[in-house]
Amino acid sequence: MVKQPVVSIIAHTPEPERVVAAAARNCYSDTGPTALLEGLDRETAESFLQKIASLGHESVLEHASFTFSLENVSRALLAEITRHRIASFSVKSQRYVRETGFSHILPPTVQENDEALAVFDRAMEAAGEAYRALLELGIPPEDARFVLPNACCTHIVVTMNARELLHFFRLRCCNRAQWEIRSVASEMLRLARNAAPALFCKAGPSCVWGACGEGRMSCGRQDAVRERYRV
Ligand SMILES: Cc1cc2nc3c(=O)[nH]c(=O)nc-3n(C[C@H](O)[C@H](O)[C@H](O)COP(=O)(O)OP(=O)(O)OC[C@H]3O[C@@H](n4cnc5c(N)ncnc54)[C@H](O)[C@@H]3O)c2cc1C
Repeated sequence: MVKQPVVSIIAHTPEPERVVAAAARNCYSDTGPTALLEGLDRETAESFLQKIASLGHESVLEHASFTFSLENVSRALLAEITRHRIASFSVKSQRYVRETGFSHILPPTVQENDEALAVFDRAMEAAGEAYRALLELGIPPEDARFVLPNACCTHIVVTMNARELLHFFRLRCCNRAQWEIRSVASEMLRLARNAAPALFCKAGPSCVWGACGEGRMSCGRQDAVRERYRV
């Protein structure tokens, strides 16, 4: 069965902007972090965050964490997102959860091409049949799963701090990123901005607020990208 990804924030540091601003103020004050936090209203916190961003004082962003649920994403996306080493992951196990009747992600290029779609559907069916046949022969799920495709759906819980999220958004919201992770990253950015607008107001691919980091590989569509991501 074809599935669509569902991205949501399931938890984050309470009042992430005030926490980050208090941590930053603590570097320049003798008052103590608890009193600094108590005396910090939202407006002051936001103006302090702008100052931090202009100074490049990014380590204080590590005090705010965001946990996302990524449901119905492909194992291909799993391979890409888990390259981000500063993040924490929990992933549906193919050792403990059987994939009989597995769901899959359908790439748009395949969906738009009837012949390709027929080839793709046959491949999904054959993989499912082979998987079930191996289980019936007594092969354990951890070995039977070797015949499953990259398209196979999984569910991921991922936690990143705000500094890592900004880095992740720079790389994965970029037009050069692969379409599925780009779409998931863009939705994560939208949700993170709702939760903490001042922390993520300048988030997005590097070209949104500066130069494109892709050099000769640039998509050349910076104006459209800026329009999409600037708030
Ligand atoms: C468009 C695109 C194409 C890609 N193509 C390929 C590909 O063909 N093949 C491939 O293998 N990968 C590919 N990747 C993955 C890429 O190489 C990175 O593994 C991935 O983007 C994670 O980036 P990162 O290491 O900066 O992030 P993270 O692991 O999240 O790390 C964040 C930052 O922490 C620092 N850091 C983390 N760990 C260390 C460390 N051990 N030592 C020093 N500093 C560290 C670095 O500054 C790093 O940028 C691609 C990524 C993109 C966006």
